[in-house]
Amino acid sequence: MNVQRSLRENSVGESIGREIFDFAARIYPICRSITGEGVRETLREIGAHIPLEIHEVPTGTAVFDWVIPQEWNIREAYIENEQGEKIVDFARSNLHVMSYSVPVRQRVSLAQLKRHVHTLPDQPDLIPYRTSYYAENWAFCMPHRLLESLRDETYEVVIDSRLADGHLTYGEYLHRGETDEEFLFSAHVCHPSLANDNCSGVALLTQLAKRMAGVKTRYSYRFLFAPGTIGAIAWLARNEARSRLIKHGLVVSMVGDGGGPTYKKSRRGDAAIDRTMAHVLRHCGLSPAILDFSPYGYDERQYCSPGFNLPVGLLQRSRFGEIPEYHTSADNLEFIAPEHLAVSYRLISEAINVVENDALYRNTVPKCEPQLGRRGLYGMIGGDKDAAAANMAMLWILNLSDGTHSLLDIAERANLPFAVIQRTAQLLEHKGLLVRHDTAPEKPAAPPR
Ligand code: ZN
Repeated sequence: MNVQRSLRENSVGESIGREIFDFAARIYPICRSITGEGVRETLREIGAHIPLEIHEVPTGTAVFDWVIPQEWNIREAYIENEQGEKIVDFARSNLHVMSYSVPVRQRVSLAQLKRHVHTLPDQPDLIPYRTSYYAENWAFCMPHRLLESLRDETYEVVIDSRLADGHLTYGEYLHRGETDEEFLFSAHVCHPSLANDNCSGVALLTQLAKRMAGVKTRYSYRFLFAPGTIGAIAWLARNEARSRLIKHGLVVSMVGDGGGPTYKKSRRGDAAIDRTMAHVLRHCGLSPAILDFSPYGYDERQYCSPGFNLPVGLLQRSRFGEIPEYHTSADNLEFIAPEHLAVSYRLISEAINVVENDALYRNTVPKCEPQLGRRGLYGMIGGDKDAAAANMAMLWILNLSDGTHSLLDIAERANLPFAVIQRTAQLLEHKGLLVRHDTAPEKPAAPPR
């Protein structure tokens, strides 16, 4: 079964990129953090598309070496000058307040204010994104140009936030396949109004999960939407035994820009997902980068910690931290585009197709080459490029299908896209020249009719 085709058919025409974009735009304005109403509101939006299961983990709960922090919520925040003008207002951009800022309401001098302001001197028109989850502090974030324009006067600073015992919230959805073995998709849901990092990943996975409904799969697919780091840690702490069922996994973040694509391998480096993603990216027609694992990045850090060592890699377009828009107000809806989201969706559905259909086959006529012409197969050698590829695919499959090389092995050796190898293997199976190794009876192929 071609899962990729099923996933494509489940989207309306070629509108998948637009649908992912529209959902990213819908959740973009929400003020998210690692806890609080913003996460819940985002999960409710996801839950309007898929039957999401919501989990609430109380403040103070130990999760491995960490403790669930207090819940943070914010109503309003601003800086007002002596003329009564709000020179910075949280209502205009939720990036203006450092996430997890403690409440404050006081009058300060410019010098005092400057000690609580973050800017980007090299990008003076952008607001930086800053957090202080585990150290009590408060701060505003603003364009450097604005800070430089401030007069030496008294300012009223107000952050109407609340840090109190509450919960950490995450959501998950399981698409059940024929087996309990899982493919994990994970996206962080803790960033405020940043479009690529990571409304794009959340939106892509929501639409993917939605389209998997009704598609029969071999693996079960788990979609996890959790706050970065602490959310993944909490999930692993509560699902340690179950995590052994994860056979493949992808962290999906920053998939809406036109860079890359970039795949960062799992800690194992040679997991099926690593080979699958490297293969899919190599044949995607773009300029892919395939990186070895490093213990810096997103939640693959937790999945790939030595005590778990799960086969989970990271898919991105541009690499995080290597684009000027990263963690700034320039990571907005103009930075992501439907066509890039559509490409990212296609890469993931190709990867699903590979893991679903990779299998061992056996050539039923292994002694010398079978006579292809007699079976109407030799005629495939024509002039066009596809026919030539199909012919090479046939020769590679027949040669390597000895029960030890899977279709992905063959696609790699032949340097042909998995889909070509898969299609050709189906044809050879139909002609009786190939049988699934695990179901193959020990008898020669029936002569062709
Ligand atoms: Zn980030």
